[in-house]
Amino acid sequence: MSDWQLVIGIETHVQLNTRAKLFSTSAAAYCDEPNRQANFLDFGLPGTLPTVNREAVAKAIRFGLAVNAEVAQVSEFARKHYFYPDLPKGYQTSQFEHPIVKGGRVEVAGEKESFSVPLVRAHLEEDAGKLLHDAIPGASAVDLNRAGVPLLEIVSEPTLHSASAARDYAKALHALACWLDICDGNLQEGSMRFDVNVSLRPDQHAPLGVRTETKNLNSFRFIEQAIQHEAARQQELLEAGESVTQETRLFDPDQGVTRPLRSKEEAADYRYMPCPDLLPLRISDEWMQECRAAMPELPADCQRRLVADLGLSEYAAGVLAADRDTVAYFEAVAKACGEPVTAANWIAGELAALCKEHNVAISSAPVDAPRLADLLGKVIDKTISGKMAKQLLARVWESGEDPLAIIEAEGMRQITDGAELEQTVRKIIADHPDQAQQYREGKERLLGFFVGQAMKATKGQGNPQQLNELLRRLLAQDDA
Ligand code: ADP
Ligand code: MG
Repeated sequence: MSDWQLVIGIETHVQLNTRAKLFSTSAAAYCDEPNRQANFLDFGLPGTLPTVNREAVAKAIRFGLAVNAEVAQVSEFARKHYFYPDLPKGYQTSQFEHPIVKGGRVEVAGEKESFSVPLVRAHLEEDAGKLLHDAIPGASAVDLNRAGVPLLEIVSEPTLHSASAARDYAKALHALACWLDICDGNLQEGSMRFDVNVSLRPDQHAPLGVRTETKNLNSFRFIEQAIQHEAARQQELLEAGESVTQETRLFDPDQGVTRPLRSKEEAADYRYMPCPDLLPLRISDEWMQECRAAMPELPADCQRRLVADLGLSEYAAGVLAADRDTVAYFEAVAKACGEPVTAANWIAGELAALCKEHNVAISSAPVDAPRLADLLGKVIDKTISGKMAKQLLARVWESGEDPLAIIEAEGMRQITDGAELEQTVRKIIADHPDQAQQYREGKERLLGFFVGQAMKATKGQGNPQQLNELLRRLLAQDDA
């Protein structure tokens, strides 16, 4: 194993969740029935003229502001020419020399460490249609529903150096786009597609090596696998004294390998030119002001606020600030039960674990915020112990029952009466003299055995903290 440095830059296509397409009034939403959502403009009929969708521009501005980029108040649409049957106009309307968003950084709270990824740019462009190879026997068909759907292409600088960091960046970008409500985030439907550019160099001071670009990855795992495979393939080539060919590749998820698709084209091949049908895109000061005022709180700011104002741990704040629905759920529970830290610990702990086990988002958990708040209220006023609450939560999750009704109906309560608990504990110690003796001789893990006995004797209702303290104190006394 040598010490090649892996270099990765990612181009991300974010499908903007606007009502209409970028330049036509057809609906932009996903649609199964071919060509239902395509009009004369999407078919590229002669004599049709595009108009820019303000909603798409506003979403691009929102992204630019969120990553602290320069939002260009004058940008320009350009034609990128190529032939393919899913592109009837013969060119894609994109942005080239003057993109709407320049620079900026994406904050990544990665699994191993936090870092930020500088961006080159983000530009608006339209998507192409789709070829259907099994719709008509013996022929291929063209579906133009997707043609003209607005995309924001976000281009990172080549500053990522591991497959896992690239995955974490992609996840952060996905979370941010959902948070900003510029994308529906549906990876299966291709709402976000990642192209990963990968190269190797002998060390971090050497010039960048020749890269390959693996296109159209739509899962975080595929991003990681494609990079790992590509890095290993390039290393083998370079160490055999051969060179890497600059090319576009595709990832085959079944085999976990990348395969060549075509040799890489250069910008000049596309005959870019400013689009003569569209005026430069101008964003007025007032519009910029409006967009600034409409910015939601950003995830990193939200996380900081939860720690600084409410006293949550970094971990809990990170889990809760994962998406806006989860934050809203937490804030509802915290407000209703009055103890933010308790609410956070239960949501980031027990509830998150249940959600993971059943593979649902916290926001659509079968235990809604008012129910969890009711249940936690009973922990806070000490009616039930944390242990009882845990079992109750699991039961409410399964059955959908009202936690307060269960507590009432079953007379659930924890025993906090010191005298009553002491009596129980004394009896248990008296009933197990051998274990008590061993404990006193230093076998401290027997405490767990006694706690278990005490919980059993109180039918799980003894206050665990009090039982623990009583056991420690009374076991230490010979004459207990
Ligand atoms: P293109 O649009 O032709 O693919 P760009 O120069 O705009 O080319 O680069 C696209 C992406 O490739 C960017 O994300 C950039 O960070 C990345 N990139 C450029 N050079 C390298 C390299 N040598 N190794 C890895 N990534 C690279
Ligand atoms: Mg590219």
